[in-house]
Amino acid sequence: MSRVTFKAINKLFPGRNGRPDAHAVRDLDLVIEDGALVTLLGPSGCGKTTTLRMLAGFETPSSGSISIDDRDITTTPVNKRDIGMVFQSYALFPHMSVRENVAFGLKVLKLSSSEINRRVEDILKMMALSQLADRQPSQLSGGQQQRVALARTVVAEPRVLLFDEPLSNLDAQLRERMRDELRQLQQRLGITSLYVTHDQSEAMAISDRVVVMRDGVVEQNGAPQDIYARPATAFVAEFMGKANIVRVKVESVSDTSVRAKLGGASVDLPRHELAIKPSEAIDYVIRPEQMLISETGAIAAVVERAVYQGGFVEYHVTIDGAACTLVDHLYHTHRLYRAGETIRVDIGTAVP
Ligand code: ADP
Ligand code: MG
Repeated sequence: MSRVTFKAINKLFPGRNGRPDAHAVRDLDLVIEDGALVTLLGPSGCGKTTTLRMLAGFETPSSGSISIDDRDITTTPVNKRDIGMVFQSYALFPHMSVRENVAFGLKVLKLSSSEINRRVEDILKMMALSQLADRQPSQLSGGQQQRVALARTVVAEPRVLLFDEPLSNLDAQLRERMRDELRQLQQRLGITSLYVTHDQSEAMAISDRVVVMRDGVVEQNGAPQDIYARPATAFVAEFMGKANIVRVKVESVSDTSVRAKLGGASVDLPRHELAIKPSEAIDYVIRPEQMLISETGAIAAVVERAVYQGGFVEYHVTIDGAACTLVDHLYHTHRLYRAGETIRVDIGTAVP
């Protein structure tokens, strides 16, 4: 069992040369449930690395506390926290073989050599590294090096795993493969993990929960599909993917939907904005793929531009004069609409 709790954490870095202090993390409350992978997501400078470093023990919070299960570790030294870390730079020892690199952390723990051998061979096998065990890091590809770095970290069986942008040195294709491998390994081992990235698709693909940060503050914390489908703020909506933000006049509100005027019709929209008063105009987020072209669609949209993309077409349209983007899969509509045509669309509401 390893459940991590950040309670009312603040971190200020003193400003140098008369500049004000940098308030890197503000009033952070966060729980990582046992065995879960939680991702801190946000633009550069929003406080992700600082949060991770406080859990690792490289930074001390200015206020608040961090605990693992019932044990307060706020000021526990780094080497007494039982935490493993994987970075963007692999930091393998260049003069050691793969096997020696993986064994290194266990030698530090002063385990018996038979125990070390057993654990090293197990993890090499599990991560498909056995064939490469005698190679030096310079004889490995970037992806293989990152896999060795991961093996070296998990072989010590840490209570918590930390990842700071571990895939950003890899090319796009390899990044996807490593991302899936990493998630599978984390689930198989069940190690409580905190992952940091600025890549929203990576965050959605691997996380149990995503915590979107901005300027040191948590904007939203939820399951990936919640954050994507029900963003709490325009910042979250736009950071998590393409978003049409349209001003709609609210007619009525229920627990799950909002009836609003859009494109010449009254339509039911899935509710994702909590504080809505009836008859108020709100900025409503509609994902491009959420708009479905249909001859019976309630909403009128005028095509401004069609961009053919192979598997789909991206239409730039106006609805009530506001610019929106929608995507259409040709296999559904069997036709390409041209600039100037008026199309009818419905808003899809099926959200997991
Ligand atoms: P991220 O990982 O999200 O890019 P960081 O946690 O590295 O962001 O940084 C958050 C903020 O704290 C930034 O404004 C950064 O400049 C500042 N910061 C981080 N580390 C230090 C430090 N050691 N001294 C002063 N300011 C720092
Ligand atoms: Mg960082």
